[in-house]
Amino acid sequence: MNSFENTLLNKFKKITTQDKNFKEITTFKIGGDIKYLVYPNTTKELCGVIKLCLKHKVRWVVLGNGSNVLASDDFFEGVVICTKNLKNVKVKKNCAFAECGAMLFWLVLKAKEKNLSGLEWAVGIPGTVGGAVVMNAGAFEKEIFENLNYVLVFDGKRVKKLKKKNIKYSYRHTQFQNFEGVVLGASFFLLQKSSDEIEEKIEFFVQKRKNMQNICYPNAGSVFKKPQKDLSASALIDMLGLKGTQIGGAMISKSHAGFIVNTNNATCKDVQKLIDFILEKVYNMFNIILELEIVYIK
Ligand SMILES: Cc1cc2nc3c(=O)[nH]c(=O)nc-3n(C[C@H](O)[C@H](O)[C@H](O)COP(=O)(O)OP(=O)(O)OC[C@H]3O[C@@H](n4cnc5c(N)ncnc54)[C@H](O)[C@@H]3O)c2cc1C
Repeated sequence: MNSFENTLLNKFKKITTQDKNFKEITTFKIGGDIKYLVYPNTTKELCGVIKLCLKHKVRWVVLGNGSNVLASDDFFEGVVICTKNLKNVKVKKNCAFAECGAMLFWLVLKAKEKNLSGLEWAVGIPGTVGGAVVMNAGAFEKEIFENLNYVLVFDGKRVKKLKKKNIKYSYRHTQFQNFEGVVLGASFFLLQKSSDEIEEKIEFFVQKRKNMQNICYPNAGSVFKKPQKDLSASALIDMLGLKGTQIGGAMISKSHAGFIVNTNNATCKDVQKLIDFILEKVYNMFNIILELEIVYIK
């Protein structure tokens, strides 16, 4: 056992597991074995594990709910840090601060308890606050950065508070996607509304999503970004008649052409082949290069 493993398995023994697989921690249920999977219970533990990995130059990656990732079939020789135990939400005046591992629906419900509104559209996105901030998640013409106040990050050395005006972001993109650090939490501005009004909004968005995304196989949401503001990748794929196309266990969803679903033990390679197939077809027909929305973990 080297000194890294010694420290991890002593100092962080209670939160470290071995013999896990990406299939267990991603909504796609795809990927290879993981050397160490860590579930920090506090921000201090989260930063401590990252510091340890950096010190020993060990590969690490942070995951929230794993709902926007495609993990390689290969063995992950490093540490996967899952934030799901860091789920506190504090609501004060017209602001809600959520730790990175809080699920979006939980943030919406905690805000509702104090009659605060603004993020109801996100209630059906199966991700954490950390993942949503990193991806600038959005739906129904809204995005998480609209309500953002500040983000708390750990850059490997210290904790910093970054105000929205100092963060680079755009459609499904933020500076945190190329960041050697972690989002610890985020604060959001919300508006006072009646409980009934908030409840109605939640129901409206839940229903809307059910009608649009009735998908019963494991998946990671939309695979591609919108190539243009009013044009979805799914519309292009649908126009090509590709719904239901299958490679190995991966299939273009029959109900939503923007989703690839894992119908039967799909491998990462199956999905990648299907992605390449779609990219080629869309480029040949429309001269458009689609960009990936899902994040690939090598
Ligand atoms: C059925 C379904 C529907 C979806 N619908 C939508 C939708 O409407 N709109 C939308 O935008 N997305 C949608 N998604 C995609 C996904 O749910 C969102 O992008 C979500 O915000 C990702 O959160 P997560 O916690 O699952 O992130 P993960 O998938 O765990 O991680 C995503 C990326 O963020 C990084 N990351 C995660 N947490 C942190 C952190 N604390 N600090 C630093 N990096 C971090 C990861 O390393 C990875 O690169 C959908 C997915 C599914 C399966």
